[in-house]
Amino acid sequence: MTQQPRVRFAPSPTGYLHVGGLRTALYNYLFARRLGGTVILRIEDTDRSRFVEGAAENLASTLAWAGLHFDEGPGIGGDFGPYIQSQRSDIYTAHAHQLLEEGKAYRCFCTSEELEASRQKQIAEKRDPAYDRRCRALTPEEVQKRIEEGMPFTIRMKVPVVGQMHFHDLVRGEITVHFDAIDDQVLIKSDGFPTYHLANVVDDHLMGITHVIRGEEWLPSAPKHQLLYDFLGWEAPAFAHLPLLLNEDRTKLSKRQGDVAVEDYRNKGFLPTALVNFVALLGWNPGDDREMFTLAELEQAFSLERVSKAGAVFDIEKLRWFNAQYLRALPPAELAGHCGPWMRAAGFDTGDNTRTEAVVAAFASYLTLPSDIAAHLPFLTIAQVTLENAEDRLLLAGEDAQSVLKRFADLAETQAPWDAETVKALIKQVQADTGIKGKGLFMPLRLALTAEQHGPDLGMMAELLGRDTCVRRVRAQIT
Ligand code: GLU
Repeated sequence: MTQQPRVRFAPSPTGYLHVGGLRTALYNYLFARRLGGTVILRIEDTDRSRFVEGAAENLASTLAWAGLHFDEGPGIGGDFGPYIQSQRSDIYTAHAHQLLEEGKAYRCFCTSEELEASRQKQIAEKRDPAYDRRCRALTPEEVQKRIEEGMPFTIRMKVPVVGQMHFHDLVRGEITVHFDAIDDQVLIKSDGFPTYHLANVVDDHLMGITHVIRGEEWLPSAPKHQLLYDFLGWEAPAFAHLPLLLNEDRTKLSKRQGDVAVEDYRNKGFLPTALVNFVALLGWNPGDDREMFTLAELEQAFSLERVSKAGAVFDIEKLRWFNAQYLRALPPAELAGHCGPWMRAAGFDTGDNTRTEAVVAAFASYLTLPSDIAAHLPFLTIAQVTLENAEDRLLLAGEDAQSVLKRFADLAETQAPWDAETVKALIKQVQADTGIKGKGLFMPLRLALTAEQHGPDLGMMAELLGRDTCVRRVRAQIT
């Protein structure tokens, strides 16, 4: 029997969930679900200088909003916990000491000033900055003496000086790296906390992770990780590095060119279904031209084989398109829930659920975001129609317009039932009776009923206004 995959999403709680993070979480989730595997949430909070209070809770709730539920993690449980790295310090220290004892790591006593001076020198000499490895040459006695003197130190990994290494990436294929391109990575910082690299490798191993699926920005770290697995005598998990997310101009997706936090999209009224569908297609394609996918459908369709190497452009217009599709497909009561706050802010009383639902259902196909509803409400919230524009007033005063309005009012007075269809039929009748058609027929009615020259379906708007209001508004324009 082949092993069931165990994957993890391992965010650092530095603030918000980046859309790239959502994509990583989603791909891990889909990969595991498809194969009946396990998805783990692990909080990588060993960089205390970047720690943000409440960020981990925020990440968890945003992921839950997106519909991604984990099998193991903080607050969920599991046999491989704790799932918060700051609670696992002893484990990392033990492994670092094992590496020290085996001569695969060494203590470095260089101060940050010394390191910075050496870095500047290398840059001036046009060399790639890397640790110059001066502490690698310290004798055991010198090391002991410095420890006794209480000198702070870091623990660095002892990268081989010559040769090269290989590792395989499921997206990028075979990768070869020369050891001289790998720095003697710090594993334990002087504050005693592990670096991301050590903690990540130790945890992935101890948590039984089979596949590491993460963003391409971590690709340069992969050789160090592979080497650490080798040093520790462990088999490395399979790696899959996901393509970068790009701005429209193909630079790396950045805050400066738009929102990158999932929370921002959520607050603007993007639906999780739309965002997940959109994000799923950033770097993966189903192999046919299907675009609309529920999470359950993605679970069936997803495979790492169809993840591309090329960067994926974050096309906000496409996301807006998805949102429009998902909004209009919502049951009216749910749509009303999303639109409610914006309707109230626009002066619409949402107290009557049936009425509110009728209004949102009528405009559903005109919405990209729930907030768009506000622009469609004035005709319902105004007490009466006042034409601000002289041109509109002139148009309504015309002889033809007046005939249309009169005929409409007369027919409408006794019309029952009153709905979009009967109103449309009634307007046809006005056309037959007056001989006026097209713009000359519709424009006066639209202006009289809604105060606007353009807008959504007039029959539907008339239905929402109700017969009596329509008759009153049209009569008010008859001179
Ligand atoms: N903590 C890293 C991050 O913030 C995890 C990278 C990885 O998945 O190895 O993205």
